[in-house]
Amino acid sequence: MNSFYSGPVFEMARRQFDGIADHLEIAFDERDRLLLPKRAIAVSCPIHRDDGSTAVFQGYRVQHHLTLGPTKGGTRFAPSVDVGEVAALAIWMSWKCALAGLPYGGGKGGITVDPYALSPRELEGLSRRYMQEMIPFVGPHTDVMAPDMGTNEQVMAWFMDTYSMYQGQTVSEIVTGKPVECGGTLGRREATGRGVSYLVARAMENLSINPTGATAIIQGFGNVGSVAALSLAKRGVKIIGVSDHTAAYFDHRGLDVVKLDDHVRRNRVLKGYSEEALFDPQDLILQQCDILVPAAMERVITAENAAKLQCRILAEGANGPTTPEADEIIEQRNDIFVLPDILCNAGGVIVSYFEWVQGLQQYFWDEKEVSDKLETALERSFQKVLRRAESDGISQRNAALAIGVETVRKSKSTRGLFP
Ligand code: NAD
Repeated sequence: MNSFYSGPVFEMARRQFDGIADHLEIAFDERDRLLLPKRAIAVSCPIHRDDGSTAVFQGYRVQHHLTLGPTKGGTRFAPSVDVGEVAALAIWMSWKCALAGLPYGGGKGGITVDPYALSPRELEGLSRRYMQEMIPFVGPHTDVMAPDMGTNEQVMAWFMDTYSMYQGQTVSEIVTGKPVECGGTLGRREATGRGVSYLVARAMENLSINPTGATAIIQGFGNVGSVAALSLAKRGVKIIGVSDHTAAYFDHRGLDVVKLDDHVRRNRVLKGYSEEALFDPQDLILQQCDILVPAAMERVITAENAAKLQCRILAEGANGPTTPEADEIIEQRNDIFVLPDILCNAGGVIVSYFEWVQGLQQYFWDEKEVSDKLETALERSFQKVLRRAESDGISQRNAALAIGVETVRKSKSTRGLFP
């Protein structure tokens, strides 16, 4: 079927799905039902600028499927956001939730905006207006938002407050990734990065790499990248390269990640941290290291650079960092242990699920309970993916996707087609 969705990121999600659908021998008349999103919402969000003018920003929310429960997924504020990108991210969320055994379909939303160009007051105005526009389409049992690139705990607090004001009561379970003082869970902010670090440790065990002295390069130093860096450093890994959209640093002797994190907390970006370790951002991910963690955006590992990677573990903190063309090259090389995005960064949605459950019950857990349950869930998925890759003779990415797609498919076929 000709789809309303387009663009390189959507095409990537479609290509991945087609490959898996062939592998699982899914009939052609069943494929559109699995791939195409249930609904997409587009809204215009006007705000007052600090200079007295008015600006309008385009916002989206895509809900992929409602078969297993409410849709669940992040909200991205970035200049790249369009409906095709959001749809692809929603589709990946579906396979990710299904692989982790969570009772959710995938959702994703976003606003086409550079959040770094807004003042805090403008950012609050835009966040509140976006949530207000979404009220008819979301709910704790319909669609539950979370943070993604360009949004954070504060934005989730504004979303929750706006929704609650309209309901006339506090509805903390409308979003996850909230600050703890607004009904969030301990361990959610760190969940994605810690999950990346846990799975990297498991991959190192598999490859008999000693974490002490192993080296890592992290692209993106936001929520996911900075926590992954800090957590890997705690395991003894030497972080030799980091980057964000403003600067890249490399030092084979190791960088001080605690100082880098402090710098970003104070200045929002890496720029200005050091003159000495400055590096070419394009070349950073091509440097020799044991662990490469793309933790920024999609499509950074491509047909042009995949053959030049010099890592042993590729841990995809970001969603969709590797194009299907690059995947083929990596598969042929057969010397890189890939932790595919829907496995590697699932810690975020797993702890979001814990936050949602705690919010619905108004019964809160301590941090140890959260992190123990997170590791148990990730371990289960890790084992499933390795076993499936082995039994089907396919890549770890395809194994993860196969489990995700198959789970959604089974549920759809058992429920039947309404009416
Ligand atoms: P964030 O906004 O906190 O951080 C994004 C980082 O990427 C920033 O440091 C930014 O400067 C950097 N960046 C942007 N463009 C870049 C470029 N061209 N080169 C290098 N760095 C660049 O976002 P986040 O929440 O950390 O999300 C990062 C990725 O992880 C996204 O792909 C997101 O979808 C994915 N993800 C996030 C979560 C979560 O819980 N936040 C969960 C799963 C997956």
